[in-house]
Amino acid sequence: MIKIASQLRQALGTDAVLTGEDVHGRSAGIWGPARHLEADVLVRPNNTEEVARALMICNQVGQPVVTHGGLTGVVDGARANPGDVVLSLERMTGVEEVDPIGATMTVQAGAPLQVVQEQAAEHGLMFPLDLGARGTATIGGNAATNAGGNRVIRYGMVRSMILGLEAVLADGTVLSSMNRMLKNNAGYDLKHLFIGTEGTLGVVTRLVLRLVQEPRSQDTALVAMRDFGQVTSFLRFMDASLGGTLSAYEVLWQDFYTLVTSQSSNRRPPLDASHPYFVLVEALGSDQQRDSERFQRALSEAFDKQLVTDAVVAKSQAERDAIWAIRDDVVQLLELKPIFLFDVSLPIDAVESYVQGVSDELTEVWSDQRLFVFGHLGDGNIHLAVSAGPENGQARAAVERIVYQPLMQLAGSVSGEHGVGLEKKPYLSWCRSEAEIALMKALKKSLDPKGILNPGKIFD
Ligand SMILES: Cc1cc2nc3c(=O)[nH]c(=O)nc-3n(C[C@H](O)[C@H](O)[C@H](O)COP(=O)(O)OP(=O)(O)OC[C@H]3O[C@@H](n4cnc5c(N)ncnc54)[C@H](O)[C@@H]3O)c2cc1C
Repeated sequence: MIKIASQLRQALGTDAVLTGEDVHGRSAGIWGPARHLEADVLVRPNNTEEVARALMICNQVGQPVVTHGGLTGVVDGARANPGDVVLSLERMTGVEEVDPIGATMTVQAGAPLQVVQEQAAEHGLMFPLDLGARGTATIGGNAATNAGGNRVIRYGMVRSMILGLEAVLADGTVLSSMNRMLKNNAGYDLKHLFIGTEGTLGVVTRLVLRLVQEPRSQDTALVAMRDFGQVTSFLRFMDASLGGTLSAYEVLWQDFYTLVTSQSSNRRPPLDASHPYFVLVEALGSDQQRDSERFQRALSEAFDKQLVTDAVVAKSQAERDAIWAIRDDVVQLLELKPIFLFDVSLPIDAVESYVQGVSDELTEVWSDQRLFVFGHLGDGNIHLAVSAGPENGQARAAVERIVYQPLMQLAGSVSGEHGVGLEKKPYLSWCRSEAEIALMKALKKSLDPKGILNPGKIFD
């Protein structure tokens, strides 16, 4: 390791390379029990050329490299072991250009998502990806995990917001596909090799992002439902009634709502907690008065049709923030011990019976289990938080089996939006075919023959 560190220092400069306590004193991530970074060396390149130089040096000797963005990932995808080199994008945070005519932004991969959002807003544009970790997560990490977030129903996953991308391959080759056009069918669209592949095929260094016009109207409501039939009917009804402006459809099951509006949260529930389901529904449009009228009209028609039981509409930004804070609150969950978090996808019409089945099976094993369900139901993607059994790997594995196994029958996925990392690796074959996994491995072998990039993540 001493040799690699000194080679990297020679190539990138002394202050670009950290070792010893400067590395071990750092946090390894924000999830789970506090852990320190275990890697031996951390390298902080300033630009693509320095990333290329660093990877070339590591590849020559088969040195494992783990890329770090904001470390907000949820699946242990950025875990580094003793003997690893961490490549951190923390110095590559610049916004290079905003093109207000073409509605694009060119940005370095270490830029925090929130900076990207703010820069777009300065030009009357919007970068539509939004998620709770916006202040810390980087745009490169968002690309590497193909992040989803709160507006997928309208704008898609981050994959659909990336026009061009630059990545450095394991051997230091710079692959610059910085396309700025909406349409480009000249051969393979290679950027997709690096989107959602969790740093296993290359290091994303720069991106061209697709921006959209900043919305001029925002209408948000929290709605209570008496059964799941209302939840799905209301989704279709609002989508049909809002002229393509439906942007978020987040569902909170009663237990989750009760927890995050409990006294300890210091939050007053906007609707009483007696209902089995709550929906946060939001529309983004272009004319506040006209859009609000349409939103209110749709809501009152939904009442007439008995699609909803109760509702509160945000009348100010503060009220909107308060509703979103309920949806985004993971702090209450993380205080429970143990707590096992999941992120699954499945057909929307199967969600109710799936959740009931999981709950029943958990109760059979642990009569005092607590299950909290919430998430992006409009995308068929829900999060389950399970507090059951002792806080150990055996209990976690038992809960994982209960949560993941039914997805096989439903053609669902063990990862809706968080990726696979180390955490879901044992379950990849429960939602991907042998042929799919074989091709993934062939791609890995071809792009990274020595297996130096984020080794052991997604599959062995
Ligand atoms: C409060 C909270 C809310 C969240 N909500 C959502 C949500 O709604 N939707 C969602 O999808 N996720 C969500 N997440 C998860 C997380 O924010 C995303 O996975 C995010 O995209 C990770 O970005 P990061 O920069 O923190 O990446 P990291 O955690 O640093 O890394 C994640 C993975 O990407 C790789 N990687 C990072 N940067 C690069 C790069 N430049 N090139 C190649 N590989 C790279 C890493 O090696 C690792 O495998 C949430 C997290 C938190 C804490």
